[in-house]
Amino acid sequence: MQGGLRAKARPGCAPDPPTRVPAPGHVIRPAMSAKILDGKALAARIKDKLAVEVDELRARGVEPGLAVVLVGEDPASQIYVRNKTAFCAKAGIRTFDHRLPATTSQAELLALVAKLNADPAVDGILIQLPLPPGLDAREILPTVDPRKDVDGIHPDNLGHLVMGEPRFVACTPFGVMKLIEESGLALAGVNAVVVGRSSMVGKPMAALLTNADATVTVCHSKTRDLAAVVSRADLVVAAVGRPEMIRGDWIKPGAVVIDVGINRRDDGKLLGDVEFAPAAARASAITPVPGGVGPMTIAMLLVNTVTAAKRRAER
Ligand code: NAP
Repeated sequence: MQGGLRAKARPGCAPDPPTRVPAPGHVIRPAMSAKILDGKALAARIKDKLAVEVDELRARGVEPGLAVVLVGEDPASQIYVRNKTAFCAKAGIRTFDHRLPATTSQAELLALVAKLNADPAVDGILIQLPLPPGLDAREILPTVDPRKDVDGIHPDNLGHLVMGEPRFVACTPFGVMKLIEESGLALAGVNAVVVGRSSMVGKPMAALLTNADATVTVCHSKTRDLAAVVSRADLVVAAVGRPEMIRGDWIKPGAVVIDVGINRRDDGKLLGDVEFAPAAARASAITPVPGGVGPMTIAMLLVNTVTAAKRRAER
């Protein structure tokens, strides 16, 4: 499709300001034109809806419960866990906190997972990553009962997703799909480029987009001429972990841009993987960092937990 895709027209948009003739030597900066995809607001709406569903489940004697396992003292992980727990409380989901020292052994963590798998009050198990050195997530994560894998990263759940029969979908790509829905972009037939191929983000993202009939290209560190690949995309999902590496002028006019990256600069400011202002000047819709994908990841963890509780109620 020539000229890229536009998201749905927004009702109530202000008319363009009158054109002014710039002074000689004045640099004209393009005004930001993209719709900002507000993940924080969307996550709050999802949480409110979930709170109603949780009330209904409680009335039927089912109390959704999430076990949150944090090993070690990683400051970023502590913040993520605090945010997830607070969000659960707002939606009425019970949490079971398991804070373990960084000295925890692989055998101790495996034993805790086995205990949580067997606990009927636990619908979902979240093991906050990364684990401290000495613990092997690749051995531990597959021991989580796939029916309690609300992070959607168990090999069984990734397999079902690739087969087009998802059970639990990894929270970040699941949240990205909701944000794309918000953009109004119809995915069938669009050129979607996913930058990053991790098992938690890039690969499940590509599977979801393929299942939704997009034509998907997955890029990684060995991709040749990333700029050229990105510039053909109607949809760009950036999940790299390199601040602003996707330049604004790579974005096809009218494309939808989803920035998964969270990168902290030395002065504490959070930056995405996309150069925001110039990308927003070309895109039809774009997520901010922070306030885009991050809150949606937490919201989808809650959605998965409530889904697990509903399935328990049906068993
Ligand atoms: P990851 O496991 O480190 O994967 C990064 C991917 O980027 C890899 O596939 C890597 O390619 C690729 N890559 C690295 N350099 C590249 C380059 N120069 N050109 C193209 N691709 C390149 O990271 P992740 O867990 O997927 O996370 C990605 C980012 O998302 C991070 O900033 C992370 O903090 C953020 N994140 C945010 C949320 C949220 O809720 N907002 C959730 C999860 C992650 P290779 O495979 O070839 O090495």
